[in-house]
Parts: sequence; structure tokens; C-alpha cells
Amino acid sequence: MSECLFCRIAAGEIPATLVAENDQAIAFQDVNPQAPVHVLVIPRAHHSDVSEMVAADPLLAGQVLALAAEVAEQEGLADGYRLVFNTGAKAGQSVFHAHAHVMGGRDLTWPPG
Ligand code: AMP
Repeated sequence: MSECLFCRIAAGEIPATLVAENDQAIAFQDVNPQAPVHVLVIPRAHHSDVSEMVAADPLLAGQVLALAAEVAEQEGLADGYRLVFNTGAKAGQSVFHAHAHVMGGRDLTWPPG
């Protein structure tokens, strides 16, 4: 059994609220939302962060981005949304399985903290 939290969610071993999926990626609600819409999009396959995913499998990265855009449309974020890949501990990454945060539903300030 994998020790990676998001691998376990992708395998259905840990529950999550699924929002959308495609062959290679799944989207689920963030357990600690920072905006009215806060969805995580992850590859089903394990990659530690977005840089490693792009280097290993750029087509997979495209599948993740495609699903993120689909989630934004499905969640009614036509007015704007933020797509964030925290990459590395210094950037706030806490789960080392590549994931995009899809955030929206409120005004989002810039620059982020
Ligand atoms: P990051 O800090 O960029 O690595 O983002 C990790 C995200 O995973 C955080 O926003 C957490 O709230 C979220 N998270 C952690 N555990 C779970 C879980 N079991 N289900 C859904 N989201 C989670």
C-alpha cells in the first residue's frame, strides 16, 4: 500500500469528494478550502511535483491542465480563477504528489503570500 496520501485517494483507499475525472487525472474538493471553490487536480500516477511530472510525462501534465480547466468551467468560474502548483517546501507544498489548486468564487489578491 502506498504511503502517499494522494496516491491513496486516487486508489479509493482514502475518501474524497470527487468533482471530475479523466483517464489520467482526478479532481476532488480540498479538505481545507481557502476559497468558495477550492478543488485539487492530481495525476493518477505518482509524481512528486509539477516539475518532475512535466519532465517525466508532459502529456500527463496536459491531461492535468485539461481537467483543471474543465473543473473551472463546471464550477462556474468564467469570471476568473487561480491555478496554483505549489512546488517545493519553500513554496508551501505539503503533499509531495503533484497537484493543481483550482481556486475561485471570490476576489483573489495579487501577489499571493
Ligand atoms: P499543498 O500545500 O500545495 O501541498 O496542498 C496540499 C493541499 O491538500 C492542502 O490545500 C490541503 O488542505 C489538502 N489536503 C490535505 N489532505 C487532504 C485530504 N485528505 N483530502 C483533500 N485535501 C487534502
